[in-house]
Amino acid sequence: MHPFALSRTDTPAHAVAEHARDPQLAFIAGGTDLLGLIKDRAAAPERLLDINGLSSLSRIDLGPDGRLRIGALARMSEVAAHRDVREQFPVIAEALLFSASGQLRNMASIGGNIMQRTRCPYFRDEDGLPCNKRRPGSGCSALHGLNRSHAIFGWSDDCIATNPSDLSVALAALDAHVIVLGPTGERSIPFTDFHRLPGDTPDRDTALERGELIVGIDVPASVEARASHYLKLRDRASYEFALVSAAAAVAVDRGRIRSVRLALGGVAHKPWRLTSAEAALRGAKLDDIGKLKSGIAASFKDARPLAHNGFKVELAQRVAVRALQIAGGRA
Ligand SMILES: Cc1cc2nc3c(=O)[nH]c(=O)nc-3n(C[C@H](O)[C@H](O)[C@H](O)COP(=O)(O)OP(=O)(O)OC[C@H]3O[C@@H](n4cnc5c(N)ncnc54)[C@H](O)[C@@H]3O)c2cc1C
Ligand code: SF4
Repeated sequence: MHPFALSRTDTPAHAVAEHARDPQLAFIAGGTDLLGLIKDRAAAPERLLDINGLSSLSRIDLGPDGRLRIGALARMSEVAAHRDVREQFPVIAEALLFSASGQLRNMASIGGNIMQRTRCPYFRDEDGLPCNKRRPGSGCSALHGLNRSHAIFGWSDDCIATNPSDLSVALAALDAHVIVLGPTGERSIPFTDFHRLPGDTPDRDTALERGELIVGIDVPASVEARASHYLKLRDRASYEFALVSAAAAVAVDRGRIRSVRLALGGVAHKPWRLTSAEAALRGAKLDDIGKLKSGIAASFKDARPLAHNGFKVELAQRVAVRALQIAGGRA
């Protein structure tokens, strides 16, 4: 185990200042991903700053306009059980309940969840096989290796990994924003811009800069959010990352789709919004399966499956159709 020094902080401003001035320092919240990465030698911070004392970041609030603010240190289990979340944003509660295990959800924070790193087995391999995300310039073992669980959209020759966070798929579908505090103040990042595509810098997962602390997530109220659903397919029924998942949120008028938001998980380096499908599905009848299928297929023209994951192209479309139908049943 790589040795590290541990200290604590009790103001966000102090946390930001410490992180900005020390490139060897990492924030630690629940530690459920970071400590695993350190054990696998995929991360080696010299210093960890425990941010759990930042009590203002633990709140879950519904504003007068229905906007949901989830503090970065709220625990996954607290958010999943929160009444307003379950009633107004069911896709969030479901994405969380289908994540990890009960014990992990009690420990793991929302900020840590959206920051968790890929589960690509080559990245996590403690013997250090070539991996551009782990060691830039060393190559990508998955590109011509075992790539059943990897991306079908947006990958590059430098990295074909997928993002493992279920919650992020739901937040991308709901047009959430990540609220970040940095050395020059607060900024708000649209969720769909928070995670990056790999390009030729796959070592960078997100738009966060050094010195920036996630303070919370803002989710706007919407008719679509109330009629929403998260559907996750995995190799075993519990305690497993998604092979493919879909978040759907829909507004319906007399059985026809007025507007829909769809995002997929398990298919790209970031949650993958199906914008072409969202446009194609407007006006479709919810019980017209043929129209739902062809609308969703509009977003798959850009799919580029790899040697072992061609099955994801069909599977992801089916998952999206089913998630949309279930969400529509709630409208
Ligand atoms: C066995 C297992 C199964 C799992 N299954 C799933 C699953 O099915 N679905 C799923 O979505 N997840 C799954 N997870 C991942 C789990 O949800 C994450 O490990 C957890 O959410 C991370 O939260 P944490 O608070 O423990 O983060 P930490 O491990 O403390 O931190 C993770 C990263 O986030 C950074 N960070 C933390 N908080 C902040 C902040 N406020 N601002 C900036 N940076 C911050 C840290 O510096 C670190 O880089 C699983 C994990 C395990 C171990
Ligand atoms: S897919 Fe990305 S994370 Fe996996 S081996 Fe290739 S570069 Fe590394």
